[in-house]
Amino acid sequence: MKHLITTADLTKKEILKLFEDAELFDDLKSSNLLEGKLIVTLFFENSTRTRSSFEIAAKRLGAQVVNLEVNTSSTKKGETVEDTVANLDAMKPDAIIIRHSDCGLPESLKSYVSCPILNAGDGKNAHPTQALLDLYTIYKHYNGKVKGKNIAIVGDIANSRVASSNLELLPRFGLNPILVSPKKFKVKTKFKSTTNLKKVLNKVDIIMSLRVQHERHDRAILPEKLEVQKKEYSKKYCITKKLLKNQKDIILMHPGPVNRNIDVSDDMIEDKRSKILEQVTNGVAIRMACLKKLLVD
Ligand code: ASP
Repeated sequence: MKHLITTADLTKKEILKLFEDAELFDDLKSSNLLEGKLIVTLFFENSTRTRSSFEIAAKRLGAQVVNLEVNTSSTKKGETVEDTVANLDAMKPDAIIIRHSDCGLPESLKSYVSCPILNAGDGKNAHPTQALLDLYTIYKHYNGKVKGKNIAIVGDIANSRVASSNLELLPRFGLNPILVSPKKFKVKTKFKSTTNLKKVLNKVDIIMSLRVQHERHDRAILPEKLEVQKKEYSKKYCITKKLLKNQKDIILMHPGPVNRNIDVSDDMIEDKRSKILEQVTNGVAIRMACLKKLLVD
């Protein structure tokens, strides 16, 4: 049985097949491909896009979806996540989609289930469907000719599962990441990295802006101090129209949620170089393709 825990679970060939399927699902029309299937979603962390995107993908393909409300579930009575998942599995769903703050949890749940697990984000570890939809968006924009494209990944690299999944996936398709972040968000890496966004602007084809992951930082800081930090951060790393005035052909991506005027300025969100909403649409098509792969193929 196949699970989707990280992008490394998929070969290049399998990913290209997912893209072919996603293209067929691009209009997000309904079909009965997953009729009779039942999918459970279990989100222990907040989510707007990923949860609704998975649910819409499943329903568009004719599956039924049960969203377990974790705040009222037995994990609140002291049950372990492993036991919760084993009990859900005993009700014979066709797939379980899980998001949790613990890195590696979806991987460790594999031995508790007899259906595919889809990782919808585990801590700062991985967010495979996000990276797949990101690559798919890039792939479509360049009609498949993505080899040699340079991508600046800007923001809280150290705490972003979107960054880590993209860093596994994009180089396999010949893209060159350049990591741009303040020193405190840097990671040890084989990729080029810099603190200076302006310096790399004329070298890159794509900018992927990321949100600062305050919820994953160890120390809580005072609200006033946080406001100062946000201002300082945005001065150096906010993607604005002014900053990209000479980059006519660049494309801008962001996985959401966007912190407006900190990650990306209002005017740049509206700009035609922004792919942010296209990413959201592509996310449903990619998740439809992933569900087809794990539940039907
Ligand atoms: N939505 C993405 C995630 O779940 C990015 C973010 O939260 O900043 O990782």
